[in-house]
Amino acid sequence: MATSEPRMSARSFARIELFSPRPLDYRRPSRTAPRLRFLPAFVILTQIALGFAGGVVAQAPKAAGALTPPVYVVHISVDGLRPEYLQQLLTAGQAPNFARLKAEGAWTFNARTDYDITVTLPNHVSMLTGRPINNKYGITNSGHRWTLNSTPPPGATLHTNAGYYVASAFDVAHDNGYSTALYASKDKFVLFRDSYNATNGALDVTGANNGRQKIDVYVNNDQNSTAMFSTFLTNMTASPTNYTFLHFTDPDTAGHAGGWGSAAYMATLTNIDAKLGQLFGLIAGSSLLAGNTTIILGADHGGVGTDHSNATLWENYVIEMMLWGPSMSRQIRISTRSMEH
Ligand SMILES: [Zn+2]
Repeated sequence: MATSEPRMSARSFARIELFSPRPLDYRRPSRTAPRLRFLPAFVILTQIALGFAGGVVAQAPKAAGALTPPVYVVHISVDGLRPEYLQQLLTAGQAPNFARLKAEGAWTFNARTDYDITVTLPNHVSMLTGRPINNKYGITNSGHRWTLNSTPPPGATLHTNAGYYVASAFDVAHDNGYSTALYASKDKFVLFRDSYNATNGALDVTGANNGRQKIDVYVNNDQNSTAMFSTFLTNMTASPTNYTFLHFTDPDTAGHAGGWGSAAYMATLTNIDAKLGQLFGLIAGSSLLAGNTTIILGADHGGVGTDHSNATLWENYVIEMMLWGPSMSRQIRISTRSMEH
């Protein structure tokens, strides 16, 4: 991540970004409308995620077991979730837990992916590192440079590919003494396990040395998010991790098979809605998680037809961003005007 960017607490960041004089209703972007070029959603998502870790660390003692107050972030990526289709379910009253995220949190259905690429692995790298794929803003080495969307070859890491170390949200949380986890449902996410393991992760020079391995819990059930989520619930009930990234493959898989917006695609959204309900139940039933958990929900790309690889189509690059938790304003529709620099 760019070290020159100031860290902000999630609360202060939310104030800056959320209080717009003219909130926009969700609407289809014009096919001829110019694409927004700056501050794509992944940057905001990651800044908020990291802001939580950094902001709280400034107040909390670093000794293990002495983190006060407890901080938990569940960062969710719904692979291929196109906001237009989620809105259809919300309008029909068929997504009560997504509706709860909206009613109790801050959200926009007009956020953006990376500018250049709209496929799963490069865009998840952006989500987790806060970097665009290619260099941007005139800053040398600002991109993470990962463009491969298939399962990486053995030994490949983000750092060897980029030619420099590519830090992530896992680094910031881990190095500050917080526990981390990645739950995924596509094999290709092994890239993160291997980039941030005990060999390839950076030295921890922040406070106490917590070692090089940045991801404490790694679970990956290829094309089986139900098994993945079941393990997530079990682990989070027994011993919740502070920063937890959850990836649901299902809408993307159904979109490729039968089309974005197909009945099978829509069914994956109602299924994920039910899992969100289980997540709300997990949080409410845990003395650690209740009142201390922030949910960040976004996507790597949308989709149209049976594809999403054309990064110039709004159907592919318009995504949602939903924020829920104790530091989030309630019932706030995030304006995208502040992104239109
Ligand atoms: Zn896909």
